[in-house]
Amino acid sequence: QSEEQWRQVDAYMAQKLIGDDPLLEATLRRNSEAGLPAHDVAINQGKLLNLFAQMCGARMVLEIGTLGGYSTIWLARALPEGGKVITLEYSEKHAAIAQQNIEAAGVADKVEIIIGAAADSLPQLQDRAPFDLIFIDADKPNNPVYLEWALKLARKGTVIIGDNVVRNGAVTDPQSEDTNVIGVRRFIDMIEAESRLDATALQTVGSKGWDGFTLAVVR
Ligand code: SAM
Repeated sequence: QSEEQWRQVDAYMAQKLIGDDPLLEATLRRNSEAGLPAHDVAINQGKLLNLFAQMCGARMVLEIGTLGGYSTIWLARALPEGGKVITLEYSEKHAAIAQQNIEAAGVADKVEIIIGAAADSLPQLQDRAPFDLIFIDADKPNNPVYLEWALKLARKGTVIIGDNVVRNGAVTDPQSEDTNVIGVRRFIDMIEAESRLDATALQTVGSKGWDGFTLAVVR
């Protein structure tokens, strides 16, 4: 099995089950032209986020890590009239591109981007809580901080998703000196120890290589 085959299967499934999506394709093109890193979720994972939001009937979504707004648009599309994705982004440049993409995708009325370090923005969201779904996808060393805030901003039944937790298998290495791996391992330890969370994690292969995500629901 090769990465080429993973890519082919992703492309096949996306073509069959998701189809062409000119607005999202334009988002990825704009991101690449602006020099943003290609760290957006894969198309099938974007759709998965959209389905999770539909399945839990989300109205209020919190995203930590906007980049160019690709996952934001997937989430926003799942929301009913009056629903909101509040998305937190450190980089002014990323946020500006994301705003363009979100407007072009026709979901600007459902998205609010907050610029700044997420750890500073999160305490200001207490009067917007509870969120129905929280997607953690920013700087991994801060994952423990984000999980603490996610729990404060949640209610019973809130879905919490943490991306990039497998990292080519590096997550199992207790000796790792990679601060991303250390952050993810602390995040997993916290989920393990947190009696309010019922959780699992899935490995994924595909167009974005070998990675995975945690999925948890607040009891
Ligand atoms: N969720 C996006 C998607 O799938 O389209 C991808 C997000 S990308 C993996 C991570 C983003 O988090 C980057 O845009 C980065 O600038 C942002 N970021 C990094 N550190 C941050 C911080 N301390 N606070 C908020 N955002 C941060």
